[in-house]
Amino acid sequence: MPDQNQARQSDELWRVALERAGLGVWDWDLRTGNCFYSPSWARMLGYKEGELPADSDLWVKLTHPEDRERAIESGDRHIAGLTERIETELRLRHKDGHWVWVLDRGGVIERDQDGKPLRVIGVQTDISRQKAAEQQIEEVNARFRLALAASGIGLWHHDVGSKISVWDAKTRELYGVGGNEESVPESLWASFLHPEDGDRAIQAHEAAASSGEVTSIRYRIVRRDGEVRHVETFAKLVADPQSQGRLVGTTRDVTDEQRRQEELLHAARHDALTGLLNRSAFDEVLKHGTENADCRPFAVLYVDLDYFKALNDSAGHAVGDAALKTVATGIRSCLPPSSFAARLGGDEFAILLPVGEALEDEASVVAEAILSSIRETDFGFGTRSQKLAASIGIALVNTAATSAADALGRADDACYAAKAAGRNRCSTFSSIVTVSTSGLTAARLAGEVTEAMENGCLLLFGQEIWPLCDQSKTPWGVEVLARLQSRDGQIIPPTAFIPAAERFGVAARLDRYIIRSALSAFGGSAAERRGTMLGLNLSAQSLSDPGLWDYVDNWIEASGVTPSCVVFEITESAAITNFDAAERFVRRAREGGCRVSLDDFGAGLSSFDYLRRFPIDSIKINGSFIQNMAASRFDREIVSAITGVAKSLGYATVAEKIESAEVLTILEDMGVTLGQGFFLHKPEPLEAVLCRIDKQKLASSAAA
Ligand code: C2E
Ligand code: CA
Ligand code: CA
Repeated sequence: MPDQNQARQSDELWRVALERAGLGVWDWDLRTGNCFYSPSWARMLGYKEGELPADSDLWVKLTHPEDRERAIESGDRHIAGLTERIETELRLRHKDGHWVWVLDRGGVIERDQDGKPLRVIGVQTDISRQKAAEQQIEEVNARFRLALAASGIGLWHHDVGSKISVWDAKTRELYGVGGNEESVPESLWASFLHPEDGDRAIQAHEAAASSGEVTSIRYRIVRRDGEVRHVETFAKLVADPQSQGRLVGTTRDVTDEQRRQEELLHAARHDALTGLLNRSAFDEVLKHGTENADCRPFAVLYVDLDYFKALNDSAGHAVGDAALKTVATGIRSCLPPSSFAARLGGDEFAILLPVGEALEDEASVVAEAILSSIRETDFGFGTRSQKLAASIGIALVNTAATSAADALGRADDACYAAKAAGRNRCSTFSSIVTVSTSGLTAARLAGEVTEAMENGCLLLFGQEIWPLCDQSKTPWGVEVLARLQSRDGQIIPPTAFIPAAERFGVAARLDRYIIRSALSAFGGSAAERRGTMLGLNLSAQSLSDPGLWDYVDNWIEASGVTPSCVVFEITESAAITNFDAAERFVRRAREGGCRVSLDDFGAGLSSFDYLRRFPIDSIKINGSFIQNMAASRFDREIVSAITGVAKSLGYATVAEKIESAEVLTILEDMGVTLGQGFFLHKPEPLEAVLCRIDKQKLASSAAA
């Protein structure tokens, strides 16, 4: 019996070993159908030894219903000789009710002479822990896949040695590559790169491959259908001792994000209405320009629309906005590509224009083009025609010594000069320098006006106004014209300093000064000068000066001048700026017995409108229509139309800037009432004019 003993010993040895290893053993005798379960098997399921019946299908009862069929089949297949061993994973119910995952492995260990299986033995291992870990990994993976899908991030890796990449489905989708081919040669990737970003993108990837750092880069790709997309890539080298390593990366489509950023950036730098640069962006551009002005000279153009306020008021804001847009488009169309245009606010625009050798000429050509583009556009709506004009100031900058603020300030000054010179024109800062003093800025000019009023340097000139259709030997009146004597003795014309005075709030004071001085001079020998009219110009600010009339009344009384001999000249542009104030002023003037003349008539576009609204006495036809009348049929038509309307409304007409006998004759033929101009009389100091008139009056009364 030594054999039987040996066998029993070896059985025992295995049983103990398996028991120690915590493995559950089952031993199934196919002849009897009995099945032996080791105590360790029972313990694995929470039972004590002997607590479970040695039932052959005990394990089947304890197996999870979902796993049962698979487990039985695995056994059957092996017994039928179809598989080499039983191997299956299944869940068994623990005594306390939960499920224990086990790996079941076994096989036939005894057969009869025909090879028919007699005994099967198996081992079941508790793999719950491993299963839980797998489950966790699967969950993490699922979450990761979900997150990737949601984020739209494509994954790829690139073998540095072979230059072959593997793109996942998302990456292929980003590039617009169809099919399932994951393997992508570097040349294919490179063929997608936007020409402007290609070198940068390749360098960034090379840097990632050599540095081992995480590298990120944004670049554009051009898909096969021509669509340009922005992508963002993160890449990192994963070293591999077998090869040169591989880059692992992500790619994300950031086109929308990029466009939003660009839009935000654009909005921060541009004027929403016109799309031109805004003030702060222009300041930046200008600062950069001035810093490089030594080698790259440029011109600054300051564009201010004329009559815009009137258009806005009469036609409404929508029309005003549309007009600003049209103006912006017009400005842009006149500029070379390297220039910058901005809307500084309201109806003011600025331009930075790079210029070459012929600094001034180039800038003026562009300015003239802008002027005519604005002039030729009809901003009207419906059947109503509305035209605008502009005044442009030009400042040339060819040295870094000029600051950005100075450059813009000069262009602004020049613009004021252009306005003062009659609008719808351009003026260059350097040319103001020659007519005024050595490059005074508006602020300094205004300061000089104030000083001049205090020290007698503000001079009064006068220009005679003559009746046109009668043979009078004496002028009908005198228009007072201001002059500024600068510190260096130069005489500065009002076109140069009145805009500055208006801008810095000294215009009303200046008008009062002129009113007082002129009335005093005029009243001095009123007996001889009786009947001569005194024309006084008023600025827009004076119209809304609440104390003006007390002041005028006082000085009329003090000087003894007859109120009806005083004619206040108010310009259309002043009336536009403050319509209500102008209306009040006209009413008050008439109550005081004074007269009112509408100056520069025709320069504005709604001139005839004003005639209906202001009960004035006379209109002064803008000199720009008179000057070239002899040569221009258009000007003659305008003057004739204005004269006709004025006559029918009972207003006297005054033609200013008569420079020739020819023009004088035309005006006489048209029936214009009064005239003034260099041909009739050149402005000279008021005292001299008054003195001569006194003599003429004396002579004519002596002759009578
Ligand atoms: P304005 O009232 O239209 O004055 C006429 C301007 O035309 C004057 O220029 C005069 O010298 C000029 N002028 C006269 N005849 C001719 C001519 O035949 N040809 C040409 N080319 N020009 C001629 P000035 O004195 O430079 O005055 C310019 C403007 O300044 C005036 O235009 C007026 O609006 C304003 N202004 C002048 N004096 C005063 C003032 O005391 N107070 C205010 N508020 N404004 C004034
Ligand atoms: Ca005038
Ligand atoms: Ca005038």
